[in-house]
Amino acid sequence: MNARILIVEDEPKLAGLLHDYLQQSGFTPWVLDNGLEVVPWVRAQSPDLILLDLMLPGKDGLDICKEIRAFSTVPILMVTARVEEIDRLLGLELGADDYICKPFSPREVVARVKTVLRRAGAPTLQASGLVLDESRYKATLHGQDLDLTAVEFKLLQFLGAHPGRIYSRAQLMDRIYPDQRTVGDRTIDSHVKKLRKKIAVAAPGEELIHSVYGVGYKFEE
Ligand code: CA
Repeated sequence: MNARILIVEDEPKLAGLLHDYLQQSGFTPWVLDNGLEVVPWVRAQSPDLILLDLMLPGKDGLDICKEIRAFSTVPILMVTARVEEIDRLLGLELGADDYICKPFSPREVVARVKTVLRRAGAPTLQASGLVLDESRYKATLHGQDLDLTAVEFKLLQFLGAHPGRIYSRAQLMDRIYPDQRTVGDRTIDSHVKKLRKKIAVAAPGEELIHSVYGVGYKFEE
């Protein structure tokens, strides 16, 4: 696992400790120590998870969390100095995914990070027996490698992240070919056809990608 973790922490020793532990656990950590830097950095870098300290110079964790939630669903682990604060934070419904209280052991933080990442990793997909590894474009269904091309992987990942929602061919093309490369409508059809065939081989009778006549495609169990 090579998830990129943003650590927002203004105590250098603690930030360094978290950085080292996360790195040793196979993550790619990055540290910011000023609240003002966080939102622009997240916009530009889209990390996989954020460890966000509440009390920060520049801008506090509450405002940062709210601002990030306006444009991103990235998992956020809020770090507070007082356990009493957690109830208040929960009441504010900031949209943080979990709360950790200082002092904590770095080991505990790593465990929480793993849990939150697992939970965030498209739960619907896991429920349907699908596991997607974006770093290798590898998809398995009930433990069986689907052997997808990059385009097929992206299609499955995108549709699977929004179960039940119908996407037109044009929308899927925008998503799969963001560089606006001119490809015909039938290109998507042909990729979807191959993808469905591979799913059918791995799990006969299980149709995850459905075509909606005259409209497009959707993911549904
Ligand atoms: Ca602090």
